[in-house]
Amino acid sequence: MPPPVDPVPGGRPGDLARAHALAHELSAQGVRGIVLAYVDTAGICRVKTVPWQRLQPAVAWGVGMSPVFDTFLANDAIVRTDALGSPDGDLRLYPDLDRLVVLAGQPGWAWAPVDRITQEGDRHPACSRTFLRRIVAGAEDRHGLTFKAGIEVEWAVGRAAAPADEFAPATSGPAYGATRQVELSDYAADLLTAFEKQDVPVAQLHPEYAPGQFEVSTDALDPVAAADQSVLVRQTIRAVSHRHGLRASFAPAVAERGVGNGGHIHLSAWRDGVNLHAGGDGRYGMTGEAESFVAGLLTHLPALTAVTAPSPASYLRLKPSQWAGVFTAWGRETRETGIRIVTGTAGHQRQDANLEIKPVDLAANPYLALGCAIAAGLDGLTSAAPLPEEVADDPARLIPDEAVARGVRRLPASLPQAVEAFREDEVLRTALGPILADAVIAVREGETAAVAGLDDAGVAAAYRWKY
Ligand code: GLU
Ligand code: MG
Repeated sequence: MPPPVDPVPGGRPGDLARAHALAHELSAQGVRGIVLAYVDTAGICRVKTVPWQRLQPAVAWGVGMSPVFDTFLANDAIVRTDALGSPDGDLRLYPDLDRLVVLAGQPGWAWAPVDRITQEGDRHPACSRTFLRRIVAGAEDRHGLTFKAGIEVEWAVGRAAAPADEFAPATSGPAYGATRQVELSDYAADLLTAFEKQDVPVAQLHPEYAPGQFEVSTDALDPVAAADQSVLVRQTIRAVSHRHGLRASFAPAVAERGVGNGGHIHLSAWRDGVNLHAGGDGRYGMTGEAESFVAGLLTHLPALTAVTAPSPASYLRLKPSQWAGVFTAWGRETRETGIRIVTGTAGHQRQDANLEIKPVDLAANPYLALGCAIAAGLDGLTSAAPLPEEVADDPARLIPDEAVARGVRRLPASLPQAVEAFREDEVLRTALGPILADAVIAVREGETAAVAGLDDAGVAAAYRWKY
């Protein structure tokens, strides 16, 4: 699939004829409307929809939507930055035809991610999808690198009928238990059917650890497609859950205590079709560049947390010994370090080797999270940063002195701490550009203010059904 490029007012060559034909095909398949989706700075997926007859005009001239959503909070309050948050102005949403799918879980609907450009036809500096595309293109131009990425999706399945927006797990079986799989058998089969119809390549779907929790993982794709896929996967899970009288929560913490929902990022860097994470003479087969990429991620991980764990509820999840990876450390298949090295099995390492970034949840805007993660890794790669010693087992067991000596730091324990680290991180702020970086800070500060005075249970409740 060709890499997505910027939309052009009036449509790119060939787009209009393609949109016209596609719209009629969609209509013949029973599609009545198309969901145009993007993710805001707070991590909420915002949409507009158009009837199928309007697909072609949307591809030509976009669909209007205010830029104010760039500084919306999860509770729909609005904060301001120098450039964003005003009630004035308009943007054009351009559906990406290469990613348009008919939604199997929502009869009558198709879905497409959008790029947002200005009325003058320029890139909108706060469009997170455009940002990720820019980072990916820059990595290719400057370093000859491409990436494969995948975002795991964990969610808690609750009963829709639970009173007062509480979470009532839809299954009571044990973690990874066959009981859960049986109890939600029809639901899980309907999910697999929907994914298959939508060409989402599912690798695994299984019951997870926390009450009512499930997980789905999908094959790695180029980063923009991986972020799109993560949004589509959640739209699908929400829809199928709804049809089964269930409710899906992707919130980092459905309850104030216990294991939360992660959205781990898997990432690998490639040059000329060769995986840099395998076949090298570094540790576990990493090339020198892959080691430095990991080192860059570790250096920037505290600041990155403001992007990958953007909600006050993220910090109910980001606790030691809950497999959320809250330390600036790496290890092979270690589930408590911020970065887990995945080598793949013997014989399949060149295809499969990658790294997993664990302190990521599904409140994160996946485009911002992937773009910032790549920028962090590239900073290490460019400066040939040395990778510290591996940490095996749970870093929480290192007594403080030993952790300090080994450069192992606890990641921010609150959103304000993460914002502080982010403010000081020139690499991430520069990668995002001042308008997006200011939006990240303002939105995180807004979320922090929105939960002032709430206890942990109140924070969990405030975000339980938002993402
Ligand atoms: N649920 C854990 C988290 O919050 C992750 C469990 C796992 O490693 O899959 O990140
Ligand atoms: Mg998991």
